[in-house]
Amino acid sequence: MRYAILADIHANLAAFEAVLDDIERRGGADRFWNLGDAVGYGPDPQECLDRLLKLDCTGVAGNHDLAATGKIPTLDFNPEAAFAAQWTGQRLSPEGKGYLANKPPVIESGDFTLVHGSPRDPVREYLVEPEHARANLDHFKTRYCLVGHSHRPLVFEAGEKGDIRLKEPGDGSRLKLGERRLIINPGSVGQPRDGDPRASYAIYDAESRSLTIHRVPYDIGLVQSRMTALGLPGRMIARLSYGV
Ligand code: ZN
Repeated sequence: MRYAILADIHANLAAFEAVLDDIERRGGADRFWNLGDAVGYGPDPQECLDRLLKLDCTGVAGNHDLAATGKIPTLDFNPEAAFAAQWTGQRLSPEGKGYLANKPPVIESGDFTLVHGSPRDPVREYLVEPEHARANLDHFKTRYCLVGHSHRPLVFEAGEKGDIRLKEPGDGSRLKLGERRLIINPGSVGQPRDGDPRASYAIYDAESRSLTIHRVPYDIGLVQSRMTALGLPGRMIARLSYGV
C-alpha cells in the first residue's frame, strides 16, 4: 500500500497538479492523505477542493480551511492571511465550505496520527522547535504523527530518553520507519517556506516502511500572473518565487 501525503496545498492548483502528475509518474498511490490548509493564499480554492474530492482524500482541517468557512476567527492571522481567508470564503461553493467545515481536527489510521498543526493543538500550533515536538509526544498514541502548518519538510525523531533529533529532509530523502517515534512534516505543496520554491510532498510505502520526500517544479509564473489578475496581495505573490 502506497500513501501520498500532502499538506498545505493553499489553493495552488498548478502546484497540486504537478504533484499529482509526479505521483502518477512514480507508480501512483493507493491512498491520499491531506494534512490541512487546502485553501488560503492561492488563486484556485474551489478547484483544489474539487480535485481533492475526486481523489477521495482522507484529511484533517487546517486553520485556513476553518477561517475560510467562518468556523474560526482570523484575529490572530496577519493582515494578508486574514484578507486571503475572506477572499477565499467568497469563492467557495456552499458544498466546498461544507466539505472543509466537516473535516475533523485529528485522524488516527494504523501507525499514524494526522493533524494540521500539532497533536496537542491540532489547528494552531507550529512544530518547528525540538522542545515543542518533545512536549507533544504524550499527546498522540500512535508511533508516528504527520503534521503540516509550518510549510517546512521536517522530521523529529524521539530518542530513548525523550531527546529529539531534528532533520530537514531534502528532495529524494528516504526515511526508514522503525521503532522510534517520529513527527514528520512532508512540506507544503502550494507555498513552501524552506527556501526551495518547488512543491513538496511525501510518499509512504507501507511494504518497505519507508517515507520519501519529493520536490516538484511547477509553473510559478503562471500562478503569479493569475494572482495578480485577481488582485491578491503582492507579498503573497512574490514569496512563491523564493519559497519563503
Ligand atoms: Zn498553511
